[in-house]
Amino acid sequence: MDVKPQKNAAAQAAAKSAAGAGYRRVAAAAPRKPPQESWVRRMLARVPQLLPSSCALCGEAGRDTLCSPCHKRFFTRQHRRCIQCAMPMPVSGKDLRCGACLKDKPAFDATIVATDYFAPSDQLALALKFGGDLRVAPLLAALIRDAALRSPVPGSDVQLALPTMLAPVPLGRERLQERGFNQALEIARPLSALLDIKLYPQLLERKKETQAQSALPVAARARNVRQAFLVPYGAMDHVRGRHVGIVDDVMTTGATLNEVAIVLKRHGAKRVTNLVFARTLPV
Ligand SMILES: [Zn+2]
Ligand SMILES: [Zn+2]
Repeated sequence: MDVKPQKNAAAQAAAKSAAGAGYRRVAAAAPRKPPQESWVRRMLARVPQLLPSSCALCGEAGRDTLCSPCHKRFFTRQHRRCIQCAMPMPVSGKDLRCGACLKDKPAFDATIVATDYFAPSDQLALALKFGGDLRVAPLLAALIRDAALRSPVPGSDVQLALPTMLAPVPLGRERLQERGFNQALEIARPLSALLDIKLYPQLLERKKETQAQSALPVAARARNVRQAFLVPYGAMDHVRGRHVGIVDDVMTTGATLNEVAIVLKRHGAKRVTNLVFARTLPV
């Protein structure tokens, strides 16, 4: 798997950002990259096959970021999920949506998740977000891709439509400078390539700095992110009539993703699908 150059490229981008270049300027400069840079990137992308690596979960040496026994053990058994919020559901039953979504419909239309958020797969999300281990981002993207291509109701022909464009949940400027990278964007980049769906890194902006959702009681989370996002003027035309895929690392109550979907729908998005690595289970 594409490991070290991704890390280097991403680390450079992060360093650039941390050096004060700013999120908007770094991303805005992307289309004007000189052609040779993409050539170098392509060449570097071939190198990791030759370099030793280790499994991010068990540490076993090998070429892949996740060894095949760990992949088989933790990511191949899937349960049935609500098509709207991805909450696990009983195997039998006719409804495609869980009781909570039937009762109080979220603004997003569908959610695709790779796994539930518990040990040891939570370690992958933590390694990326707080450990700054950017090599796991392509792995999380690959696991989301697998989830996007399988049915949310195992054994059925129920299939979720794939979005026609992707965007990450944005970080606030302060949080971005503190962390140096947006983990959602790090996942969205390789996911865009894997699914061949165009990425719009700046489709959304976080207009107010919010507290970390994980630090708040569940009841306060919706309030914390209310009106936190906007679609900048230049991106408005991209949203109208489109099926937007929103990428994030972890979904907890869904309050953040719901707020994002409200904003996108307000700008005329036809459909919003969340593509998330891990979903926390109710406590
Ligand atoms: Zn392993
Ligand atoms: Zn649901």
